[in-house]
Amino acid sequence: MNLKKTKIVCTIGPASWDPEVMKNMIDAGMNCARVNGAFADEAELDKVTKLVRDVSDSVSLMMDVKGPEVRMNKFAAAKPIKPGDEIIIGNDDSSEIYPGNYPDLYKHLEVGQRVVIGDGDTELVITKIEGDKMITEVVFGEALKPGKAMNLPGAAITSQILTEKDKTNLAYAMKLGWDFVSASFIQTAEAAREVNEFLKGSNMKLIAKIEDQSGVDNIDEILEEVDGIMVARGGLGVELGLEYVPIAERILIEKALYAGKIVITATQMLESMITNPRPTRAEANDVATAIFLGSDSVMLSGESSAGAYPVEAVKFVSRVAEVSEPLLNPTQYNEAIGVEIQIQDLANTVIETAVSEEGIEAIVVYETDGELARMIGRNAPYEPVIAVVDNAEVARALSIAKGVVTVKNEAELKALGFNKILKVGREDESVEIV
Ligand code: PGA
Ligand code: MN
Repeated sequence: MNLKKTKIVCTIGPASWDPEVMKNMIDAGMNCARVNGAFADEAELDKVTKLVRDVSDSVSLMMDVKGPEVRMNKFAAAKPIKPGDEIIIGNDDSSEIYPGNYPDLYKHLEVGQRVVIGDGDTELVITKIEGDKMITEVVFGEALKPGKAMNLPGAAITSQILTEKDKTNLAYAMKLGWDFVSASFIQTAEAAREVNEFLKGSNMKLIAKIEDQSGVDNIDEILEEVDGIMVARGGLGVELGLEYVPIAERILIEKALYAGKIVITATQMLESMITNPRPTRAEANDVATAIFLGSDSVMLSGESSAGAYPVEAVKFVSRVAEVSEPLLNPTQYNEAIGVEIQIQDLANTVIETAVSEEGIEAIVVYETDGELARMIGRNAPYEPVIAVVDNAEVARALSIAKGVVTVKNEAELKALGFNKILKVGREDESVEIV
């Protein structure tokens, strides 16, 4: 069993659709599978459910919905471009680009608008608008790639928080018993409430993807509505400018921790591993920084969905986690608004006992809803935190929370072979060494 504390969310795609690869990714430390909803259909959700469930029932499933995100159409192959080229954005496939989910985009944009594609490797600028066609010039970039997100920094495009496609995907994911929805471009608390409204009656939990300035500005109110946030560095890099990404990451993680909510740091963690078996030093640093700042989870995107080394990428995150986690200070995050004071007090007692008592090999929490184990785990005590939960849904809710490993029963706990444990009961608030 993998006892690392930092959890790993992997975006699933062609590179991970093979059962063998999936098994190896899970063995290497993957805790949650995310499916990008932009092009997924029911068959894909079925496929991923089976791929994951054939290996594990504690790895969780996350449906990523795109909401206000504007996307390029899918076409067969990348189209080469160069600076100065004219590219037309229209609303059918006679134009080079047509944002299929946004046919009336031309009504909302003006000449001079920057169009940033993907994670920012291609940029166009609108030079003319003729009827429903926008004439653009390539500022930089080498190719137009199918299905990429298009960011329109500063543009006032209002659209649905959940598109029809999102609703179809979500409804089906709920039916399949998926665990999380990651909702793109959550800018306000109101938007988060709207998604929650749709989730009513299901067990799905909401992770708000913070991707732009509005999301950062409104983070305190958004945190009150959600189970967690994603530091969506792809969106943030394009919208705020790359130089602001580290600051946004720091602020968002700090705020999430203070609110007692889950935080996932995402995008380009190990980007070079899409094509290389080994990451760069900067990437190793980036993963460690996300961990040192207090992230519950880090996420892989193209590395696990479309890259040549999905398993190696997961292994590398696990290795960074393993060696970095001992540097975390277990008494760091013992205050959180939005978490019952009783749970916090008990969590603090547990941490203090674990720090002061010699020879404890594990903290074992007998859980009901997972909240106590989560509050203990996020402090990253030196000992592993094992939550005994017989409810698979509760176990999966903890799959993206830092520092908690779940087992189903006493037998599974015994198999881990701990001799001296700190035993914590949620119901009776007991803390004893056995
Ligand atoms: P994605 O969002 O779904 O486009 O990968 C994450 C991000 O913007 O960082
Ligand atoms: Mn994004």
